[in-house]
Amino acid sequence: MALMTGAEYIESLRKLNTQVYMFGQKIENWVDHPIIRPSINCVAITYDLAHDAEHADLMTATSNLTGNKINRFSHLHQSTDDLRKKVKMQRLLGQKTASCFQRCVGMDAFNSVFSTTYECDKAHGTNYHENFKKYLTYVQDNDLVVDGAMTDPKGDRGLAQGAQADPDLFVHIVEKREDGIVVRGAKAHQTGSINSHEHLIMPTQAVSEDDKQYAVAFAVPSDAEGLFMVYGRQSCDTRKLEKDADVDLGNKKFGGQEALVVFDDVFVPNDRVFMCEEYDFAGMLVERFAGYHRQSYGGCKVGVGDVVIGAAALAADYNGAQKASHIKDKLIEMTHLNETLYCCGIACSAEGYPTEAGNYQIDLLLANVCKQNVTRFPYEIVRLAEDIAGGLMVTMPSQADFRSELKVPTKSDMSLGEWTTKFFKGVAGVSTENRMRILRFLENICLGASAVGYRTESMHGAGSPQAQRIMIARQGNIAAKKELAKVIAGIVD
Ligand code: SF4
Ligand code: FE
Repeated sequence: MALMTGAEYIESLRKLNTQVYMFGQKIENWVDHPIIRPSINCVAITYDLAHDAEHADLMTATSNLTGNKINRFSHLHQSTDDLRKKVKMQRLLGQKTASCFQRCVGMDAFNSVFSTTYECDKAHGTNYHENFKKYLTYVQDNDLVVDGAMTDPKGDRGLAQGAQADPDLFVHIVEKREDGIVVRGAKAHQTGSINSHEHLIMPTQAVSEDDKQYAVAFAVPSDAEGLFMVYGRQSCDTRKLEKDADVDLGNKKFGGQEALVVFDDVFVPNDRVFMCEEYDFAGMLVERFAGYHRQSYGGCKVGVGDVVIGAAALAADYNGAQKASHIKDKLIEMTHLNETLYCCGIACSAEGYPTEAGNYQIDLLLANVCKQNVTRFPYEIVRLAEDIAGGLMVTMPSQADFRSELKVPTKSDMSLGEWTTKFFKGVAGVSTENRMRILRFLENICLGASAVGYRTESMHGAGSPQAQRIMIARQGNIAAKKELAKVIAGIVD
């Protein structure tokens, strides 16, 4: 099948019978729901840009499984060049959407499941790698979006999977049958889950022998029986339900999406199972997926950062402050921070290496350093953007006030729209509306719905800061560094 367009992708979602709940209700037409649709538009652009000659080199690749041209989001990285292109593609999409375009979790899951199943089969004589190759060929041939799902609700963080009061707080196998397995549990804050055709489920952390029923990886269609999703609401989301609120939305067209995905005894046929109690490989799968997704943040968040920097510079222009030396310096600082994140994304890609299965893995230490910086720098970039924008970003009246023809009974006989437009005018040559638009965009990215995809996701997406520090401790090799010091200091033990 040829690569889908964005419009074809949106139509393909209508064929699914995905069960979606929001605000206490079942949402039947979720594809056209004004709160959900911006997140679908975001995924759609990953399809449209694959047809754009200017971006085809980044957006598409040649499948090592079939030799066909595929969307890079379903590609197994074949070189360090592929790893770099992945990051560049993500920066491009961040620039085009100023949001989370969701499709990366599938790509990162494909690459980690591919290499882990190969090594698991070698150790256990299982057949997961062939199962997975067959599954991925189906995904590539049909140009599907797959939600790579890792994070379980986890309950009491001080207890292992099997020690929880409620055993369902981690996804687990409840029945092993001749023809497949039955699974129960949930995945929390799943990026783009409602917008995905398929779900590829992985364990959330290492698993011990006692809890081996939690060592499970599998794929199911998003509308599998027993599976449903609850949409995660976002700050200012009901603005999307208002009539003519496009200025107030800040980013009218695009947005991210996170949801709770529940599995209430879902059957998975054998050929879609990629791990079934091989607990000794759960940790490897988690580490590899997390590594890839920490690399990803050196692309997507940088692209969004580019738009934030541009918006802050425009706000300064519209305020008439662009020549002030402190404004110029703040824009330099924002650029420095943003490009530092990009350096990390490119570096962990350039230092990648082939796995035993043949696809390429990023440098784990550098990918974890990348994400650790992402937990910090976007916060500073947003702080500087708010500094440059000024307080009006959060105090201005609504679009309805600016557009209002309601006469205010004073001597001047002016409308509410005329009064508000008059007092929020900045420099000559720039309309009050355009000034409001850029400030509302900054509000959206710093505090509103897009803060999910930029600020808070920078902190917790792909693992919270402490998860990276554990990996940095493991990969940092302090013992070797001690030896370096000993040699130069002339210490002989
Ligand atoms: Fe992709 Fe970034 Fe969203 Fe993760 S947070 S899915 S890497 S855009
Ligand atoms: Fe994310």
